[in-house]
Amino acid sequence: MKIEEEARDIAEFYSFLRIETPLLEAAELYERGIGEETDVVQKEMYTLRTKGSGKLALRPEYTAAIMRSYLQHGMHRLPQPQRLYSFGPVFRHDRPQAGRYRQFYQFNLEILGGDSDAIYDAQVIIAFYKLIEELKVKPLIIQINSIGCRICRPNYRKKLVEYYRDEEICRDCERRLKVNPIRLLDCKKEVCQTAKAGVPNIFDSLCSLCRGHLKQVLEYLEEANLPYVLNHLLARGLDYYSRTVFEIFLEEAIPAGRQGNLALAGGGRYDYLAEVLGGRPTPAVGGALGVQRLIEILQTSGTAIPLRTSKPKVFLVHIGNDAKKKSLSLMEELRRANISTSNALGKDSLSAQLEAANKMGVPLALILGQREVYEGSVIIRDMENGVQEPIPMRNMVEEIKKRLRG
Ligand code: AMP
Repeated sequence: MKIEEEARDIAEFYSFLRIETPLLEAAELYERGIGEETDVVQKEMYTLRTKGSGKLALRPEYTAAIMRSYLQHGMHRLPQPQRLYSFGPVFRHDRPQAGRYRQFYQFNLEILGGDSDAIYDAQVIIAFYKLIEELKVKPLIIQINSIGCRICRPNYRKKLVEYYRDEEICRDCERRLKVNPIRLLDCKKEVCQTAKAGVPNIFDSLCSLCRGHLKQVLEYLEEANLPYVLNHLLARGLDYYSRTVFEIFLEEAIPAGRQGNLALAGGGRYDYLAEVLGGRPTPAVGGALGVQRLIEILQTSGTAIPLRTSKPKVFLVHIGNDAKKKSLSLMEELRRANISTSNALGKDSLSAQLEAANKMGVPLALILGQREVYEGSVIIRDMENGVQEPIPMRNMVEEIKKRLRG
């Protein structure tokens, strides 16, 4: 499957390792992880009773299972964060129609552990965006929102409950209002649409940390030149999200009768999921892309899928915040030039990053510090003999190609 190859290449380019989880798991994992009151658990999950008296579920999504695996196998003892990807079938009970299937493939990216650095949120979004773009599906638009944290979300919930007290809503939303009012934001039922027009804006309720976090994610997206719009009604269906939530759409719905404008990919930050599953606090962010929806669009537009293969040749090292930010656009420049590149975004010490480069066995490292960003230069390091030399950033691609050839 060509999309799978492309997805794998993108995942490996951004240093994600593959993980596979069982198709069948204890239903409780998803009930607790995704949330009892969600559509996925209430209406879409296929469950079965075993001969004992256990209840199992067919995988309705990957994230809860990947977090379960992370906790169960003590992955917090490995270098943090862990970047994991998966590609496989998930199952959701639904009336089959264009863009909605009972079995479909998801490509999943998760960054687990470490801290809640906004660069990780941006990296997940960028990787999905680049994969879709690579397949010549565009123009795309990212919708993004922050749904706050344990500190600020309760205030917003109160505001929502107050607001909806006098509004006309569907039966499901009447129940949701008691257990998880944020879910009312993304109800698709006709009767709930009028009330949405005057819903209090969550941005006004975010605490300063959540605001700062969202601002940073947006800055990183801008640095990577990706188009986004803030959508304060974006809540996503699952309970485990905190702060960033996002979805990626085609900018214009594809023509008549096909699939309307359904999200191609979606995800967000889920810093509390590990605790809900009984583990230690573990910041995490991730998302999933629906493979069938991409295929449908490719078929509609008659686009052929290009092939690309890559193994890291260059490791990008950053020192300081400006360099960290700049490294996103350098990564994209290298990707466009087809120079496979790895990095340890989020690791801040020079020695930790060089060690990671060493382990990976790349021939070249690029070192970017405050001074280099300011001067528009970058240091190129031969990893075999340790010899370093500053070069102008504009000559970077040419210089790397020359050295890789030699
Ligand atoms: P979700 O986490 O529910 O937003 O799902 C992530 C992605 O999976 C969506 O953006 C879609 O591309 C895809 N997806 C979700 N549900 C279905 C479905 N029933 N059939 C096909 N693709 C789906």
